[in-house]
Amino acid sequence: MSPCEDVVQQDDPLLAGYVPAQDRLVRSLLDSGRFAEAGVAFDELVAAGPSMVGEQWNRATVLVHRASLAWRLAHIPLALELAAEGWTELDVDRPQGGCAAHTISMLGYLLETIGHRGPSLELMSLSVQVARESGECSALAHCLNREGNARVFRAVTRPDDSAEQFARARDLHGEAHSLAKPGQVKRSALAGYARALAGVGEMDRAERAALEALALGRAADDWFTSSVANWVLAVVRRAQNRLEEARTFASRALDSAETIRDTMLMMQFSLDLSAICEELNDPVGESAALRRTVAASRTAVDLLQEGLGQALEQRRVAVQAQRMAMAAREAALRDPLTGLTNRLGLERRAPGLLESTAAQGRVPWLVLVDIDWFKEINDAAGHAAGDMALQEVAFLLRRECRVDDLVCRWAGDEFVILLVDADQSARDAGPLVAERIRAAVEAHDWRLVLGRNMRPPTVSIGVAAGPTKLEQLFAAADIALYRAKRAGRNRVEQETTDEAALDSGRP
Ligand code: GH3
Ligand code: MG
Repeated sequence: MSPCEDVVQQDDPLLAGYVPAQDRLVRSLLDSGRFAEAGVAFDELVAAGPSMVGEQWNRATVLVHRASLAWRLAHIPLALELAAEGWTELDVDRPQGGCAAHTISMLGYLLETIGHRGPSLELMSLSVQVARESGECSALAHCLNREGNARVFRAVTRPDDSAEQFARARDLHGEAHSLAKPGQVKRSALAGYARALAGVGEMDRAERAALEALALGRAADDWFTSSVANWVLAVVRRAQNRLEEARTFASRALDSAETIRDTMLMMQFSLDLSAICEELNDPVGESAALRRTVAASRTAVDLLQEGLGQALEQRRVAVQAQRMAMAAREAALRDPLTGLTNRLGLERRAPGLLESTAAQGRVPWLVLVDIDWFKEINDAAGHAAGDMALQEVAFLLRRECRVDDLVCRWAGDEFVILLVDADQSARDAGPLVAERIRAAVEAHDWRLVLGRNMRPPTVSIGVAAGPTKLEQLFAAADIALYRAKRAGRNRVEQETTDEAALDSGRP
């Protein structure tokens, strides 16, 4: 038997049908105030990932349940992520059955705790309705109990409509208590019922219910129930002006809340305790209670700040990953040697560029550049010098073209330029730019790269205009390039792009 099995056996039988045993274990550990063990078990759960969410479990239920565990363990960004995922997964348009009811209610309660109070009560009321329709008593008890708890805490924190909230909570808790089988939900419902009764002024019944809940809570090590029951007794005694007893009960309520680190309860109970001490004229007790209020609110603020820090860090890592993915995509379209767009990049971008150029009534030009006798450079000056010569040509091409023109290293010592700039794509722009490039390469001072003894490189260029398909434009320019090579190199040739020339291919 693992050290935790005793805890699992105490857990809520309804959840057993809905979420895996490991998830229930974490919850039971939290309910017993065993936070360190709960943290370890939860980390294992998260590390195991979605494989735990197999066919037999409702994904939304497991996600929402895990979100509430993450929240209680102060993994705030994770809690929000899981809640959002579970909420999205949940079919709240036409929910049916006890499991759906239970999940909606859990989500509503979590949103209430997080402070997203707009939809929370609505979800909890919906869950009660769905559970009622399902005919599953235990699910209904759960849903009623959660809505009851939410209303009790709204009543004490927002006094303007507290009478109505307490009255609704009394009915919800009363029904939950009568429906639930003995266990955590029944105990908690009884304690909530007692608090609601005290809220509507039925002090005798409140006291009886609270005493019963306290006995049950103590016997089961159920700190939540004990805590709320002691609180009710404090409220009742205070109303009876038996202030010393009220102080004792409030102090016990606060101790139990601290055991389960429920900051919401801690803040409320310590405020009540300080008020009772003030009425008792006990300044020492009052200031001690206020210190505990401050400590509880600091814990709450610290947890939220820690959560914001975690969220920021996660966002930063995500942005970084996004940037790296973008850089990797970019890099795949770029030639590492020259930094120019590579063939893949050209093939990706050309269709759009050619289409928009044609759509504006302009002529797209393709300029195909090949270095003359490039093998000789490699052979005589070495491959590194060849690389530098390629970089130098790339630089000259960029210099002689406009920023909007697409300059690309096609392969080896071949470069392609698509002239799409408004001025560049005017009539005769191709041959003009090609001639500028040819002359720039010829006039370039190559001594720094190749030394004094190498024959300075030149380029041969083929140009073509007309077709809006890259392959056709390229084929035409390639024919022209071949002619330039045949005619002695270091020159520009232009190809007419009628179909006959294109069909003939390279001679
Ligand atoms: P031509 O005037 O007929 O073009 O003669 P060429 O010697 O330039 O012949 P070709 O264009 O066929 O040769 C291209 C050479 O470019 C072949 C190859 O070794 C070299 N090459 C291709 N890629 C690289 C590279 O990245 N770096 C270097 N240094 N050389 C390369
Ligand atoms: Mg060449």
